[in-house]
Amino acid sequence: MGILECASRASVWKGFDCYAQEKVLRLNEIGEDMFRAEVSGSEDNVYEVELNIRHPRKSKCNCPRANGKRVVCKHIVATYFVVCPEEGDRLIAETMEAQRGEVQRQEELYRKVYRKIQSMSQTELQESLLALLEYGPEWQYERFIREHGLEET
Ligand SMILES: [Zn+2]
Repeated sequence: MGILECASRASVWKGFDCYAQEKVLRLNEIGEDMFRAEVSGSEDNVYEVELNIRHPRKSKCNCPRANGKRVVCKHIVATYFVVCPEEGDRLIAETMEAQRGEVQRQEELYRKVYRKIQSMSQTELQESLLALLEYGPEWQYERFIREHGLEET
């Protein structure tokens, strides 16, 4: 598993922010696929990161979240993005692609609903509306009553 797969989703995004805000300072290669960096954290803290790309869980950071644990924190992720900026580009591209896909799915679904309603007979529409009012949320029922002035005596 890669660094990003070992980190929580939140750490990936927080790490991306750290990277984008150029909080990774003094990056050095210390071995094959191994790097050391200083990452400025919240307040005036500066954390020491050791990034091990081949063995993500052997990466280290002395922040409270990762210190002494095998946790891939946002500082480790940020360092990784500095070493492999193309991974940051890929993350953004994939996220945008997923969002576009979701919007398209919703639009396609809306078109299907619209076409379905167009094709329904009056009886079907009446039954469908009654069912929606009966089994839908209370506010929907009350709104129907309000919009049609049915409360007035
Ligand atoms: Zn950390």
